[in-house]
Amino acid sequence: MLRPQFRELRAKNLLDAKTAFLMWSAQALTLSLLLCAVWLHDRAQRHYLLFCIGFALNSLGGISFNLRGYVDDIFTVYFSNCLVLLSLCLWANGLRLFEGRKWVSWPAIPAALWLVANLVPAIYASFANRLVVYALGSAIGYVFLASTLVSSRLSTPRYRHMLAGLWLVQSAMALSFALYGILGHPQTLAGIPFMGGMILLFIACMLSTFVLLSKIIMDRNEARLKLLSVTDPLTGALNRRGLIEAANTLKQNAAKDRLLALLVFDLDHFKAINDTHGHQVGDAVLSSFAEMTSSVIANARTHPKGLFGRSGGEEFCTLIPVESLRQAAGLAEQIRTMVANTPIVLDGVTVRLTVSIGISSITVTEFDFDKLMSQADHGLYKAKADGRNRTAIASGESVYCIGPGLEPGSPAAIDHDTDLQVAALRRLTKRQLHPDA
Ligand code: GH3
Ligand code: MG
Ligand code: MG
Repeated sequence: MLRPQFRELRAKNLLDAKTAFLMWSAQALTLSLLLCAVWLHDRAQRHYLLFCIGFALNSLGGISFNLRGYVDDIFTVYFSNCLVLLSLCLWANGLRLFEGRKWVSWPAIPAALWLVANLVPAIYASFANRLVVYALGSAIGYVFLASTLVSSRLSTPRYRHMLAGLWLVQSAMALSFALYGILGHPQTLAGIPFMGGMILLFIACMLSTFVLLSKIIMDRNEARLKLLSVTDPLTGALNRRGLIEAANTLKQNAAKDRLLALLVFDLDHFKAINDTHGHQVGDAVLSSFAEMTSSVIANARTHPKGLFGRSGGEEFCTLIPVESLRQAAGLAEQIRTMVANTPIVLDGVTVRLTVSIGISSITVTEFDFDKLMSQADHGLYKAKADGRNRTAIASGESVYCIGPGLEPGSPAAIDHDTDLQVAALRRLTKRQLHPDA
C-alpha cells in the first residue's frame, strides 16, 4: 500500500519524474550489460568492469527511487543514493585504469560524505537537508570525473574537453539543487519547480556521456592497435616499420646543424646461445639486450631522444641526433662495453654476450634511411670480420674499427684468428681457381 505522502506526490504529477527515472534505469542497465559483455570478452581490461558496475549502480538508484513508499527508506534513500554517488567513483577510477593509471580512493569522497552526513539525525530527518548533501556530493563527484578526464591523455583534447564540459554541466545542475535545498526548503521532490526539466537534461547529458565515452574508447583502442603494428612483441622495441615512420618524425624535429647517426647492432654468435641454452633463453637474451641498450639511448643527452628498434632476428638499430661522429662512437662503445661486462643470468643460466656495432652518419637535410643503413651494414661487416665485439665507423669509403685489445686465448682472439684463417683460405682458393690473380 502506498504511503499517503507518496500518494500526494503522485497526484502532483511526479509520475513523470518517476517514468523518466525508470527510463534512465532501463537504459543504464542495458549499457551496464553491454559493458559486462565487453569485459567478459577480455577480462584484462578491468576498466570495462568498473564502467559496467557504475552504470548498474546508477540504474539501481533509479529503480529504488521508484520503490520509494513501497520499501523502507533506509534502502531506497540512504543506501541507494550512496550507490549512485559510488558510481561516479567507479567511473573516475575506470578512466584511470583505462589509461594505465593506479586506482585512487579520493573519488569515493562524495559517497562517504553522504553516508557520514546522514548519520546526523537532523540531516537524515529533513528532505531539504538530504537534498543539499546529496546534490553537493554529486557536484563534487562530477568535478572529480571532469578533472580525471582533463588530466588524462585519452583521445584528443577536443573530445576530452567536450565530455569534461558535459560533466561540469551536471555538476552545475547538482549545485542548483543544493542551492534550492538551502533557499527553498522543499519538503518533497515535487516541491522543486524545475524538477521535470532537470531530469530530462540529466538523461540527455548521460546519453551524450555514453556517446562521447564510446568515441574516446574507440580512439584509445585504435591508438593501441597502431602501437602494436609498429612494436616488436618480444622486446617492446620499435619494429622496422615503426623505425622508418619514427625516423621521419625525428628528422623533422632534429636541429638542422646536427648529424643523424645510425648504430646497427648484431649480437655475436647468437645461434650458439640458442643451440646451447634453447630458444627460450635466446628470447630472454634478446629482451635483456633491448632493455639495456634502450635505457642507454633514453638516458643519452640528445634532443630529440634517439630511436631504438629491432630491425630483424638478433639485429637492432638506433637512430640518434648527434653533434659529431665521435659522440655516436662514444655511445656505441658505452653500449658495447656494458653488454660485454654484464653477464645475463636467467633461471640459473649465465649467458655472456657481446655485440658488434656498425655506425654511419648523415646530415639532417640529406637524411636517407636506406643509404644510412647500407653504410652502417658495411661497418658492421668489418666489425664482424675484425673479430666481433667491436664498433666500426663507416665514413665514405673508409671504415675505422675500434674494440677491445685481443688477449691471447680469449674468444675474441680465437674469432680473430679464425677469421684471418678463413680469409687466408679464401685467398688461397681464389688463387687456385684463378692462378693469375
Ligand atoms: P654472428 O656473430 O656472425 O652474427 O653469428 P650469429 O650466430 O649471431 O648469426 P647467425 O645469422 O648465424 O644466427 C642468427 C641466429 O639468430 C639464428 C636464429 O635462429 C636466431 N634468431 C633470430 N631471431 C630469433 C628470435 O626471435 N629468437 C631466438 N631465440 N633466436 C632468434
Ligand atoms: Mg645477424
Ligand atoms: Mg649475430
